[in-house]
Amino acid sequence: MHPAIPLLLELQKTDNEIAALRANLEAAPKRIRENDARLNGARAAVASAKEALAPIVATRKKTDFEVSEWRERAKKFRAQTSAVKTNEAYKALLHEIANAETEMGKLEDVQLEQMMSAEEAEKNVKASEAALRESEQSIAAERKEIENHAREVNRKMQADISLREKIAAQIPEEILNVYTRAGKRHHGVALAAAVNEQCRGCGMRLLPHVYQEVYKPENLELQTCETCGCILYPAEPAAPPTSGTNPTTASAS
Ligand SMILES: [Zn+2]
Repeated sequence: MHPAIPLLLELQKTDNEIAALRANLEAAPKRIRENDARLNGARAAVASAKEALAPIVATRKKTDFEVSEWRERAKKFRAQTSAVKTNEAYKALLHEIANAETEMGKLEDVQLEQMMSAEEAEKNVKASEAALRESEQSIAAERKEIENHAREVNRKMQADISLREKIAAQIPEEILNVYTRAGKRHHGVALAAAVNEQCRGCGMRLLPHVYQEVYKPENLELQTCETCGCILYPAEPAAPPTSGTNPTTASAS
């Protein structure tokens, strides 16, 4: 096994961790954006409930005004009855009074209907406002949680980044370059185990001498897979393949 392999494996593990933490960190702004969209939806619901209430309120005011006008008119006619001189004029006044009262009666029915629809619309406004307050509270709490989590993840990532620097500093630059190139080709995966004369990275068969080199204890040349370019490492560094054993040295003592 090449002496840099243990360090490269450690480097790969750290890089994997950094990548996972970075992906986790990148999910935070998306969650915040989704919550903001939810909040905007709740705000829009309040606005449209208020928009529905406004014309009902305006119509009610208009009706109230009309009722009071008819009431004033009836009052005025009633006041005039004591001053009229002729029977004709008196009858005409009574007719006007009756007419005004009929109109008032009609409008009172309208008022009742309008009051009911206003109550309904006010209820909608209150319900949407309550829903908005609830969203604001839960989203504020969630945002705090997202930010705390992101801070924690970032702290771990920074620690991993400085660990990575320490590991990388112990690896010769040309080997580091091979590692970087292989990683770029395989979404960050630069190493592959050599098992049963196969590369575990791509599944392709390895040349016998390449495979043997990977398992040789004194191997000083880094072996890469011919097909995928991954740096090959022995799956079980403690147990080299049987073909490499030398019976003469084993029985020397
Ligand atoms: Zn391969």
